[in-house]
Amino acid sequence: MDISFSADDDAFRREVRGFLAEATPPELKYKVENGIEMQRDDVVGWHKILYAKGWVAPNWPKEHGGPGWTLTQKYIFDEELGLAGAPRLITFGLNMCGPVLIAFGTDAQKHRFLPPMLSADEVWCQGYSEPGAGSDLASLSTSAARDGDEWVINGSKIWTTKAHWADWCFMLVRTSSGGRRQEGITFVLVDLRTPGISMRPIYLIDGLHETNQVFFEDVRVPVANTVGEVDRGWGIGKYLLAHERMSGGSLGTHKTLLRQLKSIAAEDELSGGRPLAEEPAFGAKLAEVELELRALEAFNLRAVDRLSQRGELGGQAIGVEANVFKIRQSEIHQRLTELKMEAIGYYAMPYLIGALSHGWNEPPIGAEYANGCTPAYLQFRKVSIYSGSNEIQHNIIAKARLGL
Ligand SMILES: Cc1cc2nc3c(=O)[nH]c(=O)nc-3n(C[C@H](O)[C@H](O)[C@H](O)COP(=O)(O)OP(=O)(O)OC[C@H]3O[C@@H](n4cnc5c(N)ncnc54)[C@H](O)[C@@H]3O)c2cc1C
Repeated sequence: MDISFSADDDAFRREVRGFLAEATPPELKYKVENGIEMQRDDVVGWHKILYAKGWVAPNWPKEHGGPGWTLTQKYIFDEELGLAGAPRLITFGLNMCGPVLIAFGTDAQKHRFLPPMLSADEVWCQGYSEPGAGSDLASLSTSAARDGDEWVINGSKIWTTKAHWADWCFMLVRTSSGGRRQEGITFVLVDLRTPGISMRPIYLIDGLHETNQVFFEDVRVPVANTVGEVDRGWGIGKYLLAHERMSGGSLGTHKTLLRQLKSIAAEDELSGGRPLAEEPAFGAKLAEVELELRALEAFNLRAVDRLSQRGELGGQAIGVEANVFKIRQSEIHQRLTELKMEAIGYYAMPYLIGALSHGWNEPPIGAEYANGCTPAYLQFRKVSIYSGSNEIQHNIIAKARLGL
């Protein structure tokens, strides 16, 4: 395995870094650094900046608007986005539905849906989970009954992230219920303006509105919006999940969090005037999380090398690495937010949710970086649950790789 970067890759990294330093709006960088709530316009605006540069969909083939990068270039780009403190894009179109349409969609579907997905003129959300179907997704019961050229959808989806920002939702629905539960599931695309759809917000533990429950009552959707074969959506749904698990977090973001944590620990003084970083027990925790991060980086680079040598780029090639990556990146992310709480100490206690809202202009209590600390700690409990909980990822690895 060769994990060193070539001279061309280093030049590419410099180009990306230069562009991001210029192009990332400072007010968005400030929001990312301080954990301030993003608005739809913030995220869509950033999307459009990357779109104008031709860099918004690294994983899409060139003929559909991707930049035509190698796997290593994509890896570098993803890392640099996190290092630059750039906002995260809404991932459901670009990293989930887009690759599915490219792999399984008809020409008409690609023509209709990919261009506005690429430009963010249409924003997407994901309708998989239901009140009775999370880890056990195959038990989903939202039904689609055929009536001529239309599906009539009834049921409810839950935890639908950013549905209140979205124009379209890709969904798994039950179209028959005779054989195995996995058979009889179909992948459909639903315009959220269709009559019969309503939504109720779900506020997460940090107090912000991120997810929703979405209700479908006799919602009529053209059968032409079915992706792949009727009753064969389970395979498509799983293909999409491999992409979702790889897009859950960039190591650049983790490195930025580690850098922030180290600078807090270097500044924060203990009672004797020594910085926290010099306190042996805390120093050991910092070193431990840094080693874990470096080990995950080596794991990723090994996967990039393996896939590059085999020339495989699609979701089917990702394999069990996606499950390992999902577990480790979420654990490290949570560990970093825990250590930040520990480093900030008492200043993590005032929990002013208003301070993270758009438009707040009161002075912070304590250091500015302390404001978002508790909400971030609470918010990122979610990363070990969504995209399939970590327990489920362990089960998949045990079955698929260890043969248990
Ligand atoms: C913030 C957030 C955003 C989300 N966004 C979306 C979205 O946009 N679209 C969408 O479709 N879904 C979304 N989800 C849903 C997410 O995918 C589910 O929450 C997740 O799959 C777990 O399902 P559940 O909540 O029903 O928990 P359950 O499946 O009820 O699990 C409860 C607990 O039991 C454990 N468990 C369950 N089965 C097993 C098993 N066989 N072995 C070992 N342990 C097990 C789980 O790990 C978990 O700890 C989101 C969730 C969150 C928290």
